[in-house]
Amino acid sequence: RQELYRELRERPSLSKDGVRVDLMMNAGLAVDLPQLADSGAAGIGLFRSELQFMVAATFPRAEAQEALYRQVLEAADGKPVTFRTIDIGGDKVLPYFRGGEKEENPALGWRAIRLTLDRPGLLRTQVRALLKAAGGGELRLMLPMVTEIGEITKARHLIDREVNHLARFGHLLPTRLKLGAMLEVPSLLFQLDELMRVVDFVSVGSNDLFQFLTATDRGNGMLSGRFDPISAPFLRALKHVLDAGARAGTPVTLCGELAGRPISAMALIGIGFRSISMSAAAIGPVKAMLVELPVRELERAIAPVLADGGASRDARALLRDFATAH
Ligand code: PEP
Ligand code: MG
Repeated sequence: RQELYRELRERPSLSKDGVRVDLMMNAGLAVDLPQLADSGAAGIGLFRSELQFMVAATFPRAEAQEALYRQVLEAADGKPVTFRTIDIGGDKVLPYFRGGEKEENPALGWRAIRLTLDRPGLLRTQVRALLKAAGGGELRLMLPMVTEIGEITKARHLIDREVNHLARFGHLLPTRLKLGAMLEVPSLLFQLDELMRVVDFVSVGSNDLFQFLTATDRGNGMLSGRFDPISAPFLRALKHVLDAGARAGTPVTLCGELAGRPISAMALIGIGFRSISMSAAAIGPVKAMLVELPVRELERAIAPVLADGGASRDARALLRDFATAH
């Protein structure tokens, strides 16, 4: 298998019928970087910047943040990298940071963009480090756990101020800055057109989106596997996001665990995703599936599942049958 994956690495990322699908990897620390070349990923679709904060004993200094981001961009060597601003809070606690009160529902709590907008010093330091590290190139920034459009507006305002500040002091700025939002909170599903207008890209965080849509704690073993993301309701939600992105010309990608399982990746491609981000180890198996996949045929097979008003067919069984037949 390893032999096969190595060989696949050199092949273009095309389906059997020639549809291009970018397979990106998720990363978060310098130790992940060699996997970029090893896996043949098209880039880093999700850089979980909070990991540097989680392995540290105190808040990483601005210099340390900038140094890591430089290292990441250097390793990427021109391939796109999407940096997520720190997603701390919830299950990602920093032992040295006690900002809020004790929370009964941390997943629904003071976390991610909510926390960093309330502690703008944290966000400002990180944004500045990113802007400096990406000087002269493209910077792709992504906001976690966005619930309403106003959060994006506020973050953009803060980013603009940092850009102006650095410009005033003659720093080399990124040639292009793209701001994206993670779609993880269901409320965004009902503001899709507005969302697509205010961001440069959207990335679905399927781990959290599925957790919140089904009201199912993603870490609770008693419930794992009970509800299936490869099912009509979840796939329809994702299709709505893709359709809104297409209407606005805003790229939509997905970076949760779903992307890393061949059968789920197949479902995602079947409903229209053309870029997905997964753990580096998953790229080989997913690419092995992709090169054998007749995408147009799969699109036709999966269409009845997506049609609202139709019966909620067993999507997983349909996909399994399709995979066996091909
Ligand atoms: C997600 O929620 O799907 C995601 C990619 O973010 P994380 O797993 O880090 O919460
Ligand atoms: Mg998440």
